Amino acid sequence: MHRSFQKLFPLSVLLLGLLFTSCSSSSTLQHPTTSATLWAQNAAEYKALTTSVYNTALSNLGMAIEDSYWTAYPKQEDQKMRKLPAAVILDVDETVLDNSPFQARMIKQKSSFDPEQWNDWVMEAKANPIAGAVEFTQRAADHGVAVFYLTNRETKVEEGTRQNLKKLGFPLSENQDRILSNNERDNWTSAKTERRAYVAKNYRIIMIFGDDLNDFVPAKGISQQERSELVENNSSKWGKFWYVLPNPSYGSWENALYNFDDSLSPTQIDSARKARLNTKKN
Ligand SMILES: [Mg+2]
Repeated sequence: MHRSFQKLFPLSVLLLGLLFTSCSSSSTLQHPTTSATLWAQNAAEYKALTTSVYNTALSNLGMAIEDSYWTAYPKQEDQKMRKLPAAVILDVDETVLDNSPFQARMIKQKSSFDPEQWNDWVMEAKANPIAGAVEFTQRAADHGVAVFYLTNRETKVEEGTRQNLKKLGFPLSENQDRILSNNERDNWTSAKTERRAYVAKNYRIIMIFGDDLNDFVPAKGISQQERSELVENNSSKWGKFWYVLPNPSYGSWENALYNFDDSLSPTQIDSARKARLNTKKN
């Protein structure tokens, strides 16, 4: 989970905010994810949107299983792939599990992202499902499709992830570990490329689900322009092989706003973000 945006909220910014607040009652410093978190937790439209995504996948499921040439992972060789059992790959955070309560805690505590607190939240196993995800994965499993969860959560908290998914009714295999965590094996990097290849060795990957471009293709560190081109170049895949869930709170889209430059100060990041606001005036 990449959460550099939280650099925007260090103590110095808070103190500055308090100073302004004391000068003017109308000036309140807002945590950068307040609106996004309120939306995720309250907008009925969010539920409608994610349900639409999973419903679309459901309506394609039969065809995807039947058609042995159908693949969401074009690197597979036709003849070999056709004999393999079908699988779907889903990212976990903001794809099948809703972590907005963790965001809400950070906002209320006026704190920035802390990996230990994040792991504690994962081990609480209290995340709700993203609307539509349980129904889709259960239906896929009922049809004999292997359901893999490919997550950048750490391996040491995989048990928390498993408990959370299990509690909510997400299908899990008793014979095989289908939660593929970050660094669980030597070459399994956060880029997820190796883990997709691992699944592709024994399965025909019929659908991929995620909230971040990196859940589908390697997109680390590339510019906004390149990100946009990647989406256009793969336009025939969206809604058929690849399914995107909305995440306005965090993700590589946000880091791309300041070109993934973690050396920038919070003020510089804030300026870089604002420079991306398009007013059509210049
Ligand atoms: Mg995610």
